[in-house]
Amino acid sequence: MGRYLVTGGAGYVGSHTVLALRDRGDEVVVLDDLSKGHRAAVPAGVRLVEGRCEDKRALAEAFGGGRFDAVLHFAALSLVGDSMRDPLRYMSENLSVLAAVTKAAVQHDCRRLVMSSTAALFGFPERIPIDEEQRLGPVSPYGESKLMCERALDWAEKIHGLRFASLRYFNAAGADPAGRAGEDHDPETHLVPLAIDAALGLRPPLMVFGTDYLTPDGTGVRDYVHVTDLADAHLRVLPLLEERSVRYNLGNGTGYSVREVIDTVQRVGGRPVPHALGPRREGDPAVLVASSARLRAETGWSPRFPKLEDIVRTAWDWRLAHPQGYAGARRAA
Ligand code: UDP
Repeated sequence: MGRYLVTGGAGYVGSHTVLALRDRGDEVVVLDDLSKGHRAAVPAGVRLVEGRCEDKRALAEAFGGGRFDAVLHFAALSLVGDSMRDPLRYMSENLSVLAAVTKAAVQHDCRRLVMSSTAALFGFPERIPIDEEQRLGPVSPYGESKLMCERALDWAEKIHGLRFASLRYFNAAGADPAGRAGEDHDPETHLVPLAIDAALGLRPPLMVFGTDYLTPDGTGVRDYVHVTDLADAHLRVLPLLEERSVRYNLGNGTGYSVREVIDTVQRVGGRPVPHALGPRREGDPAVLVASSARLRAETGWSPRFPKLEDIVRTAWDWRLAHPQGYAGARRAA
């Protein structure tokens, strides 16, 4: 049994990771200011410290109850489009939040940290699938901010002896298969929940961003990875940190186009997805597919829900049960 601090544990990937830790019997403390996350996404038995990661009092409270084996750091701004409008906010905030959390960890004798990173580090990639050897070249301030964070962690390793794992997520999607958590962003910008909501009549028709890409059907291709599989990867990298720091690209290894996602939502939900065809979204590469060969070989990780249909089904079921998202929901047992 371990003891872990999860920053951003009330958010989408964070809350699923909290469930995975708790399911295996670990003790978890969540630090979250609930600016994006949801109180109801934190299970009732998990201590929630409500506050900002840069707030010394909140940090002192979170770190106060005993030594953590590791910090899992999810708290960050994560919208590429927003970052194109407010670049300096993204770069300064993501770095300063990581720095505050890392400093506090070191001060409290915790030298293990797992950070959410992103496929956006690679910008427009040279080869598909994208392995860890590819050139880093973010094309958004969001991607740049996470690259700065990875570099800051390198220095924390050299100077403070911190060991870290940076997990570069591709497209997180789906929901807890037991229905205990799901995806609830405001604003929602991600394809799978927007397509489901369009089918359910909860949002306007989906806009397909670009039909003239050099892909088999002309729409953008992404690597959708189940959020529970993402959570599992966080648990699997923890033992490695006893020896070294690691960086892994984290995806399913299969690409699906926007049209394939729409078709899958229609099949799973049994309802049409109203949609319109629109222009490309600025900064969107044609294809992003991960090679997670290194992660698989070094940790034994492999996705339990690799099929798009299973990813969409869990997301559909959660949304059907929570048409208002977490609004009005209570913390689950
Ligand atoms: N997409 C779309 N319409 C939307 C949102 C997304 O066509 O309303 C497309 C987007 O261009 C990309 C894919 O769906 O090809 C996944 O986008 P998302 O925003 O979910 O994740 P990203 O890959 O940008 O992190």
